[in-house]
Amino acid sequence: MSEGIGNEGIILSNTPDHLSRYNALGSNGNYRDDFFSDQDFYLFRTKLGIGLVLVDGTRVHLIDEALASQLECASTQGRREDLRDIFVSLGFYLEPLVDDCLVGVPPPRAFSLAVAQKCNLGCTYCYASGGDFGSVAKKMAYEVAVRSVDRLMDGVCPGERVNLAFLGGEPLVNRSVLIAATEYAAEQAIRRGIKIGFSITTNGTLITPDDGAFFERHKFAVTVSLDGVGSDHDLLRPFKSGRGSFDHIVARLQPLLEMQRGMQVSARVTVTPRNLNLRSTLDHLVSMGFHSVGFSPMVSSPTGRDQMAVSDFATLLDQMIACGTEFEHRITNGQHYPFSNIVSALSEIHRGTHRPYSCGAGGAYFGVSAEGGISACHRFVESETGQMGHIDTGVDVAKQSKWLADRHVHHQTPCNQCWARYMCGGGCHHEVIHRGRVGCDYIRGWLHYALETYVRLIATHPEYFGPRGGLFNAAPVV
Ligand code: SF4
Ligand code: SF4
Repeated sequence: MSEGIGNEGIILSNTPDHLSRYNALGSNGNYRDDFFSDQDFYLFRTKLGIGLVLVDGTRVHLIDEALASQLECASTQGRREDLRDIFVSLGFYLEPLVDDCLVGVPPPRAFSLAVAQKCNLGCTYCYASGGDFGSVAKKMAYEVAVRSVDRLMDGVCPGERVNLAFLGGEPLVNRSVLIAATEYAAEQAIRRGIKIGFSITTNGTLITPDDGAFFERHKFAVTVSLDGVGSDHDLLRPFKSGRGSFDHIVARLQPLLEMQRGMQVSARVTVTPRNLNLRSTLDHLVSMGFHSVGFSPMVSSPTGRDQMAVSDFATLLDQMIACGTEFEHRITNGQHYPFSNIVSALSEIHRGTHRPYSCGAGGAYFGVSAEGGISACHRFVESETGQMGHIDTGVDVAKQSKWLADRHVHHQTPCNQCWARYMCGGGCHHEVIHRGRVGCDYIRGWLHYALETYVRLIATHPEYFGPRGGLFNAAPVV
């Protein structure tokens, strides 16, 4: 290690630009002077010590202030070799887990079928423009659904797993094809020795007890879109007539929620500037008996209506942290509180995530339109961007390769310099293509909070993370 590395105690400030962006979020000032970021590591202050995240592999260590100062100093002065020496001396340096090489293109292992490109709701922000994707409303024919299942299972070896999802529009508008396609896929999976999972995203307005029994029989993961409680939901997700849908949905959901054993019924809340009261929404939806409840900001709507303004992300972050704080309180008191955003963030941190993409779109996951067109995901159905072939001819490998090369987080700016890149993956492709990266400070603020929570929980309740839980401390460098 080179001499002359400052050792005056950690500063944990950052470049003015980065800091000012965090301060802009800081209605509560929580992020002031609390972190230091470098393209290869991230420092964050906790009551237990300084958290160090090695970006590649999201490896978390607790270190002391002296080592943190050395790292900050070397980074600020651009001494990359010294940084590498420090990490090697600590035994932290590993070969990169994420590189630029594509190891071939993955074959499809998950399809979402747009069985109904039509919908009975008129949600204000709908990515499918009211269900029909800006085109003529249509339903998928049974033959198209069967050919899609055959295409999905083509070349899958016994013991491997595939997933079949139903999205829309509202998929239950085409219930008969949904049921027939599920039964066909389940039979084929048994015949070929393939494992299969089913999922549906529904607006909940058409669900019947028979649907519940069917979903239970096939162990569906059911996601119901609910944007809040009562009038909050009704403002954003009315029937096409303008009438509110919340009470109608809740009445239909109750039998389903009581029935869930093999199936899992989750709530997904799309967050807009008009339903930012996440904390009370979460409490209410958890008390209804959902398997999990998660929030997703509306970053890009086709008309711009009800999408988040940059200034809304500060409130979103405060509310997400309030939800996370309640989660931690409940967990440390031995209670269940299925706030899926923090559950999945903690799980990703614990397993040392290092993903070069935000999701599987165009990788092993594809959307299939009512007419059999294959696109990068359900949101790219009927869009010129992200088209990837047809179920009759399969995925166009040249288009898929180009998509994966272009969308790799190393080839996205400013992601390739961002400390959060292997946790974030560069953001939803659809949102980035249509609106750019407007929520990065929110993403980093949320990940910062998740890292703090991880350090606290693993120190006090390692059992939450299972038998492999445990945060190891680095010996201070002298
Ligand atoms: S989308 Fe934003 S937060 Fe995510 S990796 Fe890119 S720059 Fe970082
Ligand atoms: S591109 Fe966006 S909408 Fe499509 S699967 Fe990925 S995260 Fe979801």
